Amino acid sequence: MKTYPLYLNGQWISSDETIAVVDPATGEVFAQASTVDRTGVRKALEDAQSALPAWRSLTGMQRGDFLLAIADEVRKRADDIATIMTRENGKPLAQSQGEVNGTIDHLRWFAEEARRAYGRVVPHQAPGKRHLILKTPVGVVGAIAPWNFPLILSIRKAAPALAAGCTVVLKPASATPLCNLLFAECVEAAGLPPGVFQVVLGSASEIAGEMLENPICRKISFTGSTPVGKRLIEGAAKTCTRLSLELGGNAPVIVFADADMDEAIDGTLMAKFRNTGQSCIAANRIYVERSIYDDFLSAFNAKLQKQPVGPGLEEGVEIGAMIDEPALATALEMIDDTVAQGARLVCGGKRWGEKGSFLVPTILADVPDDAGCMNEEIFAPIAAVSPFDTEEEVIAKANDTVYGLAAYAFTNNLQRTWRLAESLEAGTIGINDGVPSTSNCPFGGFKESGWGRELGIEGMEAFLETKHISLGGMG
Ligand code: NAP
Repeated sequence: MKTYPLYLNGQWISSDETIAVVDPATGEVFAQASTVDRTGVRKALEDAQSALPAWRSLTGMQRGDFLLAIADEVRKRADDIATIMTRENGKPLAQSQGEVNGTIDHLRWFAEEARRAYGRVVPHQAPGKRHLILKTPVGVVGAIAPWNFPLILSIRKAAPALAAGCTVVLKPASATPLCNLLFAECVEAAGLPPGVFQVVLGSASEIAGEMLENPICRKISFTGSTPVGKRLIEGAAKTCTRLSLELGGNAPVIVFADADMDEAIDGTLMAKFRNTGQSCIAANRIYVERSIYDDFLSAFNAKLQKQPVGPGLEEGVEIGAMIDEPALATALEMIDDTVAQGARLVCGGKRWGEKGSFLVPTILADVPDDAGCMNEEIFAPIAAVSPFDTEEEVIAKANDTVYGLAAYAFTNNLQRTWRLAESLEAGTIGINDGVPSTSNCPFGGFKESGWGRELGIEGMEAFLETKHISLGGMG
């Protein structure tokens, strides 16, 4: 069985302590990945600090060219990266390929943005003064990523940080390290200097502890659950380490009677079941206007039954294995609890197949507002559907959550579209769009869904400090 080394200061380093990587479609360990202890993280941060002056001194165009070279290397290895992503995460191969393509697009977007870290000249108020605003890289960045989109979410951090002139120590999720290590091969092949981009694995709390307490690490960019995000906030209070936090979600989908029904069903299926329901912007609560409720449910169920379930490497599979057995057990428990709270099981509700952590895609109807699954992140292929009567009522329900990452609505009413855009409390709103995220637009959450934004021009801003230069004696 292969043990993958870590990429540290331009070298491939193996360790005795390793992490077992499991294929969720079989439950079997198929690889090992090397780890570091806290001393190893400290060394990585020190090497990142040593690499910083030269990297920061390159022009934005030169750093952008490096990112374009990485993108070319990712393209060359796209099949290998997508295959290993499916093996370690369980998602269907076509979705892994989509994620690799999205990664390439992120690299290209931030390669171009590298040239546009504009400062500005501010008109002076006092005679003899002049004011310049400069944008400078934050410095050494610690990036911590989750397993659900294991590569693209790492690169949403690494690409803008590198473009801005920062150096990066990346900690991928323990469940999905391998596609990140294949990415590190692309970084090496693209010729980035040692220490500019490194990958560490090991105890998450030790790695985060070192990143929080070591003054070399100027910023942590984290994507993951809200409870861990809150722990990072507590840790950062001691050092004022800058934080960007991309946390959990509880996205509502609102289907109005004036929507195009086919478009609404396809969009809701994508928003709910893409990535096997394990997406931070997944449809968590599906509200359907009462006059079309029964028709929607039966058409939604009929379309869901045409989505093949199975191992992600099998041709044509649309819904793969969940990440692991505990995630499957939590999903099954959530279904039982929701039925006990008065919901109706329309389909699914049980394990799929003989091995691997598969759930039969599930629809729960008539789900009461106070059911657990309407208030917590489901993170599983379970659709919770409920009827509504008025626009006012459903907007209030949609906003009645501590989260605010994404919201979706299906309607063909222009005035309503604008009212929804203004009143829904979420960082991303898909109107007649079940897959709204794109490299060139900001992504992030309101309320407990996080701090800051990734992607778009805002994604680059997150890795820049703002400096005011005041010139006196200027006549
Ligand atoms: P998680 O348990 O919070 O883990 C995310 C990352 O944090 C992993 O690398 C994990 O390492 C690490 N981690 C665990 N404990 C830590 C600690 N004490 N200090 C610092 N880091 C720690 O979340 P997950 O289960 O991987 O991902 C699912 C969650 O992420 C969901 O809530 C989802 O909504 C959210 N998410 C948000 C976005 C967004 O953009 N807003 C995108 C995707 C996912 P180990 O793997 O080694 O435990």
